[in-house]
Amino acid sequence: MNATSAPSLGPFCQSCGMPLERPEDFGTSKEGFRVNDYCAFCFAKGAFTRPELTRAQVLSEIGRILAAKLDLAETEAKAAADRVAGDLKRWRQPARRAGRARAAEHPAGGRARVANAGRKAPRAARGAA
Ligand SMILES: [Zn+2]
Repeated sequence: MNATSAPSLGPFCQSCGMPLERPEDFGTSKEGFRVNDYCAFCFAKGAFTRPELTRAQVLSEIGRILAAKLDLAETEAKAAADRVAGDLKRWRQPARRAGRARAAEHPAGGRARVANAGRKAPRAARGAA
């Protein structure tokens, strides 16, 4: 498994974009059941652990993670974070960002996630998948 470059197809936390791979990665419902939409850090016992979190904060956090993980420049990481967050249920903004809808660029819709969200060398990376 190459977690940093292979597109991860598993579920993602719909708040922070973290891939949900192990059972303990998943958040829990009020009843203690597994919640498929959110990770354990964002969602526990049926509620967001940080309800005050804003989209902007998440963007900067995701940006930081992406910058470190994928070795992106700051501006690239920001753009990638924007793409990731725009795809997450918690931060999806229905009509307001229509002008920047990524779905128009990607026939696959929201499938372009972290893994191919703005690499330093897109041309070299293309054939690698
Ligand atoms: Zn999360």
